[in-house]
Amino acid sequence: ELLIGVLALQGDVREHLAALRSLGVAAEPVRRPSEIDDLDGIVIPGGESTTMSKLMVDFGVYEPLRKRVLDGLPAYGSCAGMIMLASEVLDGRPDQVSLGALDVTVRRNAFGRQVDSFEADVALNGEDFHAVFIRAPWVERVGDDVEVLGRVSAGPSEGRIVAVRQRNVLATAFHPELTGDRRVHRLFVDMARRAKSTED
Ligand code: GLN
Repeated sequence: ELLIGVLALQGDVREHLAALRSLGVAAEPVRRPSEIDDLDGIVIPGGESTTMSKLMVDFGVYEPLRKRVLDGLPAYGSCAGMIMLASEVLDGRPDQVSLGALDVTVRRNAFGRQVDSFEADVALNGEDFHAVFIRAPWVERVGDDVEVLGRVSAGPSEGRIVAVRQRNVLATAFHPELTGDRRVHRLFVDMARRAKSTED
């Protein structure tokens, strides 16, 4: 059976656990290095990437998680989680670390400081997705192996890249865990299921 971990050092952990469990998948919070070994996928929640970065190092999960994700463990990050997966972070703190699993450049708090939170429609894989953004990053550069899955469909930020995938790594600048729409989590669960079946 598939086991998905949700990194539970900081951020909206419960919402991701609930979203995954609503799809009938076993999902557990992950705080310790030993809890990483048995996972078939990891979700990195929204929250605050500078804090999450510090806690990942302090709790000793940074290195083991980085190793597993670079080895192909399916990973999904929302908002701060997208920042944690990226290879390059703009407007980050100088001591902030990221996992470097996704060949993209992200800009923190990119939609402007005054725009704390907003909702916008995103064209996601050719479908409309109503998305919630909270002090969100956007993607400014994508590497050759990165697929752009979603862009803001209208308004001042029209065209901005807000969902990407590179093989087993998925990231959104928005928070599908905060709404009832489970399409992003379903996509991630499918990715994890496929990865597990090819490895067994
Ligand atoms: N601004 C936060 C950061 O830089 C992300 C916000 C969020 O996850 N909602 O980490």
